[in-house]
Amino acid sequence: MKRIFIPIGFACLLGSSFGQVKPKNQFLTLSNIDKSVKPGDNFYMYVNGSWINNTEIPASESRIGAFLDVYNKSKNNLKAIFDGLGKSKNVMGSVEQKVADFFASGMDTTAIDKLGYEPIKPYLKQIDAIRDIKGVMQFIATAQTEQNGMLFNIQIGADEKNSAVNIPSFYQGGLGLPERDYYFKTDAASLDIIKAYQTFVKKMFTLSGTDEATANRNVELVYNFEKLLAEKHLTNVELRDPQTNYNKMSVAALDKAMPNFGWKNVLTTMKMKCDSINVGQPKHFENINALLASTPVDTWKLYLKAALLSNVANALSADFVNARFDYTGKALSGTKEMKPRWERMIQATDGNLSEALGQLYVKKYFTADAKKRMQELIANLQKAFENRINRLDWMSDATKEKAKEKLHTFLKKIGFPDKWKDYTNVKIDKHNYFNNLLACSKNEYAFQVSKVGKPVDKTEWGMTPSTVNAYYNPTFNEIVFPAGILQFPFFDPKADDAINYGGIGMVIGHEMTHGFDDQGAQYDKEGNMQNWWTSEDESKFKTKGESVISLYNGLTVLDTLHVKGALTVGENIADIGGIAIAYEAFL
Ligand SMILES: [Zn+2]
Repeated sequence: MKRIFIPIGFACLLGSSFGQVKPKNQFLTLSNIDKSVKPGDNFYMYVNGSWINNTEIPASESRIGAFLDVYNKSKNNLKAIFDGLGKSKNVMGSVEQKVADFFASGMDTTAIDKLGYEPIKPYLKQIDAIRDIKGVMQFIATAQTEQNGMLFNIQIGADEKNSAVNIPSFYQGGLGLPERDYYFKTDAASLDIIKAYQTFVKKMFTLSGTDEATANRNVELVYNFEKLLAEKHLTNVELRDPQTNYNKMSVAALDKAMPNFGWKNVLTTMKMKCDSINVGQPKHFENINALLASTPVDTWKLYLKAALLSNVANALSADFVNARFDYTGKALSGTKEMKPRWERMIQATDGNLSEALGQLYVKKYFTADAKKRMQELIANLQKAFENRINRLDWMSDATKEKAKEKLHTFLKKIGFPDKWKDYTNVKIDKHNYFNNLLACSKNEYAFQVSKVGKPVDKTEWGMTPSTVNAYYNPTFNEIVFPAGILQFPFFDPKADDAINYGGIGMVIGHEMTHGFDDQGAQYDKEGNMQNWWTSEDESKFKTKGESVISLYNGLTVLDTLHVKGALTVGENIADIGGIAIAYEAFL
């Protein structure tokens, strides 16, 4: 069951390789340096060479770096919390009880394995009973209310052109492969991934009682159907353009234009009371409308079964979990081994009882000290950023004023939310993992859908407190740093300035720069997608963005595989700006 809150503009500081574990009384790990390389020849290899040569990616990971070091620290801290809760008597209905019993239910593999796919039999029966396309849409809309996303994705958040009010957004979705391009690639590596995906879908059918020959036929029908969906999906580069992906439409007009989709019925089933919604990618929904007429209902039903099984596989017995890992873990990410169950259940608890677990985490692992030091760092980076705007030789004073206003309007969130999400209605039973997941999903959906048409609550967070990451959210014009990332080697309140500006300072600068990258620059200080640039400055800014794209297009990732600059440009601008601002603030 997927979460629906997907703010855009998240940090993706992957692949950096800062220090490793902090030796006693020493913040800098000099042993990572490769002294055989001259810094003037290759500074990157000089700084990181020894680390790169001496570091292996663990079998259960697809990458390694400072992020993984800090993630492991957070993970062990969370494990200590669960170990403690496991030994104490928790009051029924308390946050402690819910967190502890959710985790315990996920660890009870004897009970889970015994059930097999029993928990989803009622859903499979419902699909079998579907007779027409109205029934198809009814099933999909109901599944959405359990955060069981199929065919499309939804998000309820600030209207990008009226950022004080929440509206629902409907986005393209429904593919089993990561994105549309995978369906049309013909190179050997891509064909292997397609094969692994088809093997996975087949396994989902056979494990849930379909015979081999029928399962083979089902896979072909499902895959070909998904390919028809993929044809009309926007590419991942097209998805980066906020204007293209904002299409506010009245429900009445949508209902008229796409009668098979039945917008009014879908929204009623999804308990969304609204006159208009944002349709991110209209082509996808027009395509669905056409496919509802042209595709046999029996094929639709197979597609629903495949989507359902794929979504819930990790909540079922080991056969299902292993099959899913063979596809997503081995074939897609290149990881050789699954993470231990306890680690996956920590992640599941964090994902489902996010701010319940978060409360327990920050009580133990976050200090007021850290928050104070972060506030100072952010204030100094804002000053440095302002100086850099003032010095720009290509930007007019009019645009500079607007940029500085936006810079100083940043909402800053550090550590954890001021107010916690409510889990009163979530009943957690130590002996029923599947029902626990369902209860969490229903509660989260009820919370999300209650926001439709209401004023935006800017105290809301898009990451959990223990997350080792940070983000900029354009509609809130905010920079957010969860407690999880505020640890060494990124940050230590006791370390000297060089360490903190070089670590978390770079992350702060990175998130601030997102407010002014190719996407962020299209939002004003209130979070509205509204142009605040003079047309001359805007065109100069775009030209500079093109240079960043060309620069990164020239970088080779592996063999002949290049970086796709048009896809990564937002992160690249944020990295370039982040390090420059952090260094200037340090000076
Ligand atoms: Zn980023």
